[in-house]
Amino acid sequence: MSKVYFYPINTQDNQKLGLAALKTLKSVLETEGKTLQPQLGIKVHFGEKGNHTFIPATCYDPVIDYLKSSHIEPSYIETNVLYRGARTTLDHHVALAHNHGFTQIPIIIADGEKGTDYNEIPIDKDFIKSCKIGKAYENFSQYLVFSHFKGHAGAGFGGALKQLAMGFAARGGKLAQHSDISPIVNAKKCIVCGLCVEKCDVDAIRLEEAAVIDSDLCIGCAGCIAVCPEGAIRNDWGGSNFLQKIAEYAYGAALNKDNIYISFIHNITADCDCMGKSMDCIADNIGIMASTDPVALDTACLDVLQQTTHERLFESGRPTLHHAEKIGLGSMTYHLIKIQGE
Ligand code: SF4
Ligand code: SF4
Repeated sequence: MSKVYFYPINTQDNQKLGLAALKTLKSVLETEGKTLQPQLGIKVHFGEKGNHTFIPATCYDPVIDYLKSSHIEPSYIETNVLYRGARTTLDHHVALAHNHGFTQIPIIIADGEKGTDYNEIPIDKDFIKSCKIGKAYENFSQYLVFSHFKGHAGAGFGGALKQLAMGFAARGGKLAQHSDISPIVNAKKCIVCGLCVEKCDVDAIRLEEAAVIDSDLCIGCAGCIAVCPEGAIRNDWGGSNFLQKIAEYAYGAALNKDNIYISFIHNITADCDCMGKSMDCIADNIGIMASTDPVALDTACLDVLQQTTHERLFESGRPTLHHAEKIGLGSMTYHLIKIQGE
């Protein structure tokens, strides 16, 4: 049975919150006899421009200070987003991260300038045969995967599994989870500039009165979405088996990694940190949880939220957990170990 460490805390003091996160990390290390690698990737979410409820940079200070004092070299690592926004390309993404205060350690954007650098990780599961994982994720064998546990319009909730699945996937990997078909060109917006044709490595785009994508040739890298100056190319968000694909991509992202997962059940909003707007919290802050098992961690976060609120919040995301358990990513059965908290 997987262990999940729980530090209850309800505070807006980021230093206290960060110290609680450090306490959960140390509990995992001490109780499970784990060691940290000298070079460590730190996966967080920098928050979309205009979002105010992502986990602030200062919440990571205590963990980063601890790592540095332990002679561990940490780097933030992220991937570009699928949609057009402030985190679509490497330069803009890093600038936004700095603007949001994530300046303590170097930042790596794992899928490169346009989100098209990736490694294919074969997994041969029900819906995904191979995952497009941001190339620089090969740099580290271990990650501290920090997640903000909150709602998500399509996935029900976002936690450790979604952080692995979307956060580690290159743009094409995100497209594969969200959509069953190739990107779509809005002919009315297209100015026939040809930039997408230049970008497409497999010659899947031709220019007629507007750009046309040949879905038989397209490999779903999503590079054309990033380069179009008119925002004329978009993906179809209505893909099938989205929850199962999240579980399978999370499996691919975590494969052969010695990760520790830490989730903030804090600033609980109905939608995710990719929303570039202010959102109200829909539940009280609950605390921090950590585990080496992302399935157990997400299950525990969901359970404690529902027990605390006496509501079936985010229940629509539970099938992701069942599928993740079925494919061997982790266990929905867990032992909750409460550590000193408020
Ligand atoms: S059309 Fe080309 S650039 Fe666009 S997603 Fe498909 S393969 Fe990638
Ligand atoms: S990059 Fe955009 S505007 Fe230019 S040809 Fe392609 S779809 Fe049209």
